[in-house]
Amino acid sequence: MTFNSSPVQSIVFDNQQFFIKRDDLLHPDFSGNKARKLHYFLQNDFPNIRKIVSYGSAQSNAMYSLSVLAKMRGWEFEYFVDHVADYLKENPHGNYKGAIDNGMNLCVGMDIPALTMDKEILFIEEGGRQKEAEYGIKILAEEIIDWQVKNNIKELNIFLPSGTGTTALFLQKAFVEEGTPRPTVYTCPCVGDETYLKKQFLELEENEIYHPTILTLEKKHHFAKLYKENYKIWLKLQQQTGVVFDLLYDPLGWRVLLAYPEVFSKPTLYIHQGGVLGNESMLPRYERKYKDIKK
Ligand SMILES: *Cc1c(COP(=O)(O)O)cnc(C)c1O
Repeated sequence: MTFNSSPVQSIVFDNQQFFIKRDDLLHPDFSGNKARKLHYFLQNDFPNIRKIVSYGSAQSNAMYSLSVLAKMRGWEFEYFVDHVADYLKENPHGNYKGAIDNGMNLCVGMDIPALTMDKEILFIEEGGRQKEAEYGIKILAEEIIDWQVKNNIKELNIFLPSGTGTTALFLQKAFVEEGTPRPTVYTCPCVGDETYLKKQFLELEENEIYHPTILTLEKKHHFAKLYKENYKIWLKLQQQTGVVFDLLYDPLGWRVLLAYPEVFSKPTLYIHQGGVLGNESMLPRYERKYKDIKK
């Protein structure tokens, strides 16, 4: 199967115009950029594969998207997690519930067996961080360049927040390989720090001419921790633009982007990478913690 090109929307946020690439609207069952990263596995034939094996957290967007892929292809899906919180077990919701409903087999607290030799198993790294992701992200790059040319935008900056950095890296790489126009990709680390993200880039691509530009705030940021500033900007985005962003990556992404006016002084395209299903667990936590904030 293929995806239709995702729409680009113009918004005004804090009196500044931005374009949004709505990858969250790519497919109703996939989580935005995970659809791009897994596109290769939807498009090609894998006659021997019987089962997907992967690992990570019990709330991850990648886990949910893998469950969709497995269901579409008629494969089993085995997913290894360290633990599942009691609250989640008793009140399944969000990505966890979606994946269970799609038939995911959860392996809790078990070691991942050595599988590399098994031809019936497709092993997917945490967060979908692997070479095959390049295939779908190249298609994203082509969609962006088509849009840029059609709209006669001479210079374009792209911003997207990173987890593993796979999407940002393969996007910048595709633009460099494509030639002209050549948008510049800016990103920020959401999971680790700048050193971690740089390391991730290097593992996927040694040649630094293909690497995105990393931007950060001065203060350290911990993934999935509740920050008042994150909740506030998420609410403000929704109020001013009507777009619902994800609560794990996008709030930090927007805070970082807004801290760099030299980036958005040129036409800037922010990539909405989906993940909104994960808000089912993050939003109640924010609402409980910051009852005083007006919605
Ligand atoms: C997975 C994910 C990311 C991070 O993507 P990477 O390719 O790992 O950097 C960002 N935003 C959302 C909503 C995601 O689901």
